[in-house]
Amino acid sequence: MAWFGFTSTARWMRSQRGYSVCAVCHAWPAQPICSPCIERFAQPLARCPVCALPGHAHPCPACLQHPPAWARSLCAVSYGYPWDACLARFKFEGDSAMGRSLAHVMLHAPGLEPALERAQWLIPMPLSPQRLRQRGFNQTLVLARHLAQGKTLAQALLRTRDTAPQASLPKAQRLQNVAGTMAVNPRHAQALNGCRVVLLDDVMTTGSSLQAAALALRQVGVGHITVMVFARTDAPRMGASTASVAVGENAAHVSHRFGSP
Ligand SMILES: [Zn+2]
Ligand SMILES: [Zn+2]
Repeated sequence: MAWFGFTSTARWMRSQRGYSVCAVCHAWPAQPICSPCIERFAQPLARCPVCALPGHAHPCPACLQHPPAWARSLCAVSYGYPWDACLARFKFEGDSAMGRSLAHVMLHAPGLEPALERAQWLIPMPLSPQRLRQRGFNQTLVLARHLAQGKTLAQALLRTRDTAPQASLPKAQRLQNVAGTMAVNPRHAQALNGCRVVLLDDVMTTGSSLQAAALALRQVGVGHITVMVFARTDAPRMGASTASVAVGENAAHVSHRFGSP
């Protein structure tokens, strides 16, 4: 039995809380986030189809100049009020009911459900084993299972080394922090070859972690990658000049850790 990504049934049970008020407007009785709040705070915006930066109906100049390793990005909301607090409640308090509500908000956003339907696999971004032990669950895996349990490939990506939390680093150091930190689990490499996948994360900031993951997926022959996130910050995507470095480092990590395929 998969307990929606929690490491133990006890943790999952603790995460199941009763809700009587909406987390945003405090209307009662309500789901963790009520429908009027979704209508009010999750209105779709024109976004770059590649990096989901708001304010662009077509690929933004950065994506035209340095396309990332994925084909398109979809997000439900802009990072900020009230979603930052909802995400914190989900991520740091292990609030599974909130996870279900955030997934519901995602499915409400244009294009997300068809993209999930077209994909063969939904791949959540992994946490490092250390961070998984600290937190007790991978919030992105929980989200994935609420979005498309049957397509969720939980262990497809591995963190090859732990990284400093991205939020604590200046923008310029983030890419260096994650380059070569991700590899495809050799057990799933063959199954992913030629596939169309959705790569899922809770938040995209500069996209550098997603880029490392997408490069690792490309390396085993994944044919088409759609990045899907709950929330997108307004930060531009980090430049793509590091792509070849990350591929090389990933290759080194994979062969070092798992041997040559
Ligand atoms: Zn509400
Ligand atoms: Zn863009």
